Amino acid sequence: KVKLDVLAQGVSGCTRCGLHASRTQTVFARGNPDAELCFVGEGPGADEDAQGYPFVGKAGQLLDKMIAAMGLSQDEVYIANVVKCRPPNNRTPEPAEMASCLPFLNEQLDYVRPRVIVALGGTALRGLLGAVDGITKMRGKWRLYRGATPLMPTYHPAYVLRTPTKEVRQMVWSDLQLVLQELGRPIPKRGT
Ligand code: SF4
Repeated sequence: KVKLDVLAQGVSGCTRCGLHASRTQTVFARGNPDAELCFVGEGPGADEDAQGYPFVGKAGQLLDKMIAAMGLSQDEVYIANVVKCRPPNNRTPEPAEMASCLPFLNEQLDYVRPRVIVALGGTALRGLLGAVDGITKMRGKWRLYRGATPLMPTYHPAYVLRTPTKEVRQMVWSDLQLVLQELGRPIPKRGT
């Protein structure tokens, strides 16, 4: 999609917020821009900043496992973040930084036009839906992104790695099953 390429090009030179100062490069997206399912996370970490793609570190490996457990290939998803530059020391992006960067994500999603969005973690959820309750309260229940696109909030894979209990994994898997149901896809027997 040419418009996405042009947008990514524009983002790569962006200096709208202070996060540009310490980035190695911007991190725009990976996956298929024609995908029906889009995952949105918080922002790049060290691995992503180094490689230029989102979710390529440990949390990304878990996300890939989750996608595989859903019976989907990498070509059936599109993955992006709320902010495109790595916050120093992996801190949470500040509200002003998110506000500066969000128009890029909104435009990105306008071009991809996914049928379903999964918000990974509380920061992504706040970015996509504005002021909302925490992820623990919001996960597992459908919301609408900009009043139109079904959005499922679930835990960020980094949280799952930090809290690898059966209960947390089961909650994420149950959220992803709802996503598969919405997409009209079969639900594989075994989860993450
Ligand atoms: Fe621009 Fe977003 Fe990077 Fe801030 S985080 S400099 S708004 S691309």
